[in-house]
Amino acid sequence: MMDHLYAPWRSPYLTGENAPGCVFCAISQNAKDDIKNHVLFRDAHCFAVMNRYPYTPGHFMLIPHAHQDSPEGLGLELWLHLQKRLYEGVQLLYAFGAQGVNLGFNIKEAGGGHRTPLARAFSPPF
Ligand SMILES: [Zn+2]
Repeated sequence: MMDHLYAPWRSPYLTGENAPGCVFCAISQNAKDDIKNHVLFRDAHCFAVMNRYPYTPGHFMLIPHAHQDSPEGLGLELWLHLQKRLYEGVQLLYAFGAQGVNLGFNIKEAGGGHRTPLARAFSPPF
């Protein structure tokens, strides 16, 4: 038998009550709201944003501007660009005292990517 965790504070995120359409595309397309949206970084290809519902303090996500749900949808050049930013993200967490970093992807809906683009999550286990 499989047990499920229930996190009621995540319901608005999952049901989309707070964000019609894709919340990440809305953030991507509104750089003027970066401070309000907790965007840490952005360049021409991707942005990093703090998770509004963090697993741990310091949890943030690296998200391509292109709404794709798999690496092959991005293309190899953009995929490699994200890996460079990934490397920098890990170094940033070390600079803030993380002793280690947990990284994860949700690739396609069956991989947990519920209505979201491909995102790389950084969760320092503080
Ligand atoms: Zn999107």
